[in-house]
Amino acid sequence: MAVSCQSVEETIAGILARRPVLGPVLNAFGPLLEARASLPETLKPLLESAGLRLPDMRGERASQGVPLLADESLKGIDAPLRAAAEVMLPLLAEQEAVKPYAAKLRGFFLGSGEPDGPAMPPLDALAESVLREDAPVLEKTAVGIGVPPEVLLFAFGFMLGPVLRALAAMRPGGDGKDAPWNAEGAWRQGYCPVCGSNPSIAYLERPVFEEKNAYLAGGGGKKHLHCSLCGTDWVFRRGACPSCGKEGNDVMEMLRESKNAQGERLDWCTKCKTYCPSVDLRERDTTPNLDALALGLLHLDMVAAKKGLHPINPSFWNTF
Ligand SMILES: [Zn+2]
Ligand SMILES: [Zn+2]
Repeated sequence: MAVSCQSVEETIAGILARRPVLGPVLNAFGPLLEARASLPETLKPLLESAGLRLPDMRGERASQGVPLLADESLKGIDAPLRAAAEVMLPLLAEQEAVKPYAAKLRGFFLGSGEPDGPAMPPLDALAESVLREDAPVLEKTAVGIGVPPEVLLFAFGFMLGPVLRALAAMRPGGDGKDAPWNAEGAWRQGYCPVCGSNPSIAYLERPVFEEKNAYLAGGGGKKHLHCSLCGTDWVFRRGACPSCGKEGNDVMEMLRESKNAQGERLDWCTKCKTYCPSVDLRERDTTPNLDALALGLLHLDMVAAKKGLHPINPSFWNTF
């Protein structure tokens, strides 16, 4: 992780000091974000023993906009997914939207605990269907368990997310600026080059200093998008809409507080009316945890909703 310097806790504390009104939401979702951030480290050995690794990027497929995992078999991902479920399900059960279905979800992901209970279903197929946006498979599974599809998707995202984060982090060089998708022109999409999910937030980077000479190697301001599911960061064109891809001087507008914004804003598209939260790191001293900050911009989500704009990454906390 090139940019996540503050922890989830530190970022949330910083937001609460400025916006105490967001306390209930941040306190409800904070523990989920903390667990998701710390899980990947413990999942790596499970991924290794399952022989799972991120495939190499293939230039032609990437230029066609096909994410790395779109046509990959995820065989072997069941064990790490269940390990993630053990940690995440109790936290998910605290969420208002999930609470009524907590027992059903637990039964599905972790079994009844009885030796003669129903066999646990393979989770690799469910993971593959989520990454391929194969809605019928997800819906059929949801109906089978007896939970609404959006609840299953929300809960499963918090299991699949940490597993994919571990997978992405095991790649030599991680997802830093040397990652293959950040090579000039390698990946031009507004969705994630690894898993295909939409970004939860964008950031503009600080000026880059070359450590050895302390020369300014770049003026900063390069735009990156941050994946809502697997946490990958990738470079994106500044004047372009990550949702519809349109580009030009009159495409993107900005929505921000007039005072003490600390670089926080929403970038919204005048063509498709979709917005993505964003932070200009040149306007603040600390680098926040991006997932926590996305949640901390909820006050702007509400303004956007009143303007008739739609979030690029809809979730329980930004749809009203
Ligand atoms: Zn991703
Ligand atoms: Zn657009």
